[in-house]
Amino acid sequence: MFKGILIDKDEHGYRAALKDIDDSALPEGNVTVRVAASTLNYKDGLAITGKSPVVRKFPMVPGIDLAGTVEASSHPDWRVGDAVVLNGWGVGETHWGGLAEKARLNGDWLVPLPLAFTPAQAMAIGTAGYTAMLCVLALERHGVKPSDGEIVVTGAAGGVGSVAVALLAKLGYTVAAVTGRPQEADYFKQLGATTVLDRAEFANPGKPLAKERWAGAVDTVGSHTLANVCASTKYGGVVTACGLAGGFDLPATVMPFILRGVTLAGVDSVMAPKALRLQAWQRLATDLDLAKLGLITRTISLAEAIPVAQQLLDGQVRGRVVVQIA
Ligand code: NDP
Repeated sequence: MFKGILIDKDEHGYRAALKDIDDSALPEGNVTVRVAASTLNYKDGLAITGKSPVVRKFPMVPGIDLAGTVEASSHPDWRVGDAVVLNGWGVGETHWGGLAEKARLNGDWLVPLPLAFTPAQAMAIGTAGYTAMLCVLALERHGVKPSDGEIVVTGAAGGVGSVAVALLAKLGYTVAAVTGRPQEADYFKQLGATTVLDRAEFANPGKPLAKERWAGAVDTVGSHTLANVCASTKYGGVVTACGLAGGFDLPATVMPFILRGVTLAGVDSVMAPKALRLQAWQRLATDLDLAKLGLITRTISLAEAIPVAQQLLDGQVRGRVVVQIA
């Protein structure tokens, strides 16, 4: 038996609870992992509360991320004792995930735990931090350099936003943090932001083109915020879009794209190919300041993950949450 959060949906409703689960209930897979730590991302909040239909099969163990040690493997890449990390691939949505003491997975989904990180640090990064790195890589791929000007990060107090601010600042970019928590100005300054802006300035319909300000952007919010960020991006600038915390619509015009050559670059972490994942984790190992990661992170137990999931959706969680399991 092992402990895990189990989500059920039936005639009694949608509910998540900490349960004792029999090993025989684990899904198919060629690698069994003893989970050391997991985390709560926005998507885990949606899964645990049932606010959006993230979970596609029931019962489901949520948790789109895990870090731990291989306990059994018939996959050629993994041996007993290997330290591994998993992000995405539908885990915690269609396949049992990381918010449990054990997981059984497809070995193709795993990457090695970078030597630079403990399992808890890897989970402090989690999908949110790995996605922030994918956004930074996309900005670089499109040629955005620190000397080009300010980079704006929206949803900056969230998980993706906090790691993005820390990474960009470390890489020498000038960072503006857009947030609904301007009272957290000290937090953003410690992460390396030079400017803190109130998200209310971005939340309403704006002009098709506004004053040119940003050389690049990491947008985790979507909707009017993303439209306004595109409208105020400088000629030739690059906007990476990865989130929908403010809405999945995009009420924008083509003007920034056809008159200023702005690039809108989509970023997906879930199905990202393995080579890109390995690159992102390798860059996190070199470009993320561990002291800043500590500042961003709070640690909770498996049992606490259920109430904290609701707090995360309510915007009451700052930065990242590690769920310590072993
Ligand atoms: P968090 O909940 O940690 O952060 C989201 C942040 O968005 C909040 O902290 C808040 O920041 C801001 N926010 C929340 N509600 C609103 C609103 N109504 N209007 C404007 N801003 C709002 O989530 P994550 O950082 O884990 O994820 C952020 C987004 O990125 C989510 O939509 C998530 O689904 C998406 N995502 C996508 C991935 C991909 O592969 N494309 C991978 C990971 C995440 P503040 O308080 O500073 O305003």
